[in-house]
Amino acid sequence: MKLVGKIALVTGAGQGIGKGIAEVLADEGADIVINDIYADERCEVLADAIQKKGRRALVVAGDVSKRADVDRIFDAASDFGPIDVLVNNAGIETIIPFLELTDKQWEEVTEVNLKSQWMCAQTFCKRAIAEDREGSIVNIGSIQAARVLPGRTHYAPSKLAIEALTRNISAEMGYYGIRVNCVHPGLIDTPMIRWVLESPEILPGVVGQISLGRPGQPLEVGKAVAFLASDDASYITGQSIYVDGGWVGK
Ligand code: NAP
Repeated sequence: MKLVGKIALVTGAGQGIGKGIAEVLADEGADIVINDIYADERCEVLADAIQKKGRRALVVAGDVSKRADVDRIFDAASDFGPIDVLVNNAGIETIIPFLELTDKQWEEVTEVNLKSQWMCAQTFCKRAIAEDREGSIVNIGSIQAARVLPGRTHYAPSKLAIEALTRNISAEMGYYGIRVNCVHPGLIDTPMIRWVLESPEILPGVVGQISLGRPGQPLEVGKAVAFLASDDASYITGQSIYVDGGWVGK
């Protein structure tokens, strides 16, 4: 197990990729702080499943795009113990034609997908440095950092920018032993893209672009995150890796 004795905070972990990441990190020995915007039944079910694996689990609700919530999430999480691993997973996707996009829609996507990662990473690093602790951050980007899909002129830039955010934070935080990497998922079977998976018109065209010829599962993203978060990746920082079944590579 790669993460025995570590505590990991996973944002947006109530469902989908975040839930899969939380499960894999727990399988690797980590205790998990589960964040989602609401502390609803999904989070409690996940916490219960993690506790059944013999790990500790704490649910902390909060909107990671709001500074006050970020501070409150980290305060609550630190009662659980010092956080070793931050996974910036929470994100939203909307599909809006470029000419119809409003300021409010641009700001909402950018704040949830990008600003949240900057705020959470800065809060994590300030606290780790103050306590003289090293750490690891994994930011979740998207295949759309490299592939154009219609109606994503707001979403795609918020995800491509995560690569630059990752590189720049890693450059400043390397001195403190804090590593920062990014995982770009491809088509992953979650509620966010269920409409694609359930569309006989759209799905074959998308899957046809994927070398492995199938959507991925949240646990497959979780395994890449666990590797990057662990000491197995002790000399890897500032990198972005595609977990996309060979979509970008095809
Ligand atoms: P999902 O099924 O919609 O799950 C996202 C979770 O994040 C939800 O539980 C959501 O809560 C939560 N969340 C949303 N806004 C939040 C906020 N401001 N603060 C805290 N939690 C918040 O999405 P997913 O497919 O698992 O995606 C996870 C990440 O992977 C996102 O960053 C997404 O952009 C990225 N991604 C996904 C795919 C894919 O194919 N699925 C591909 C590339 C990248 P609610 O449900 O209550 O809104």
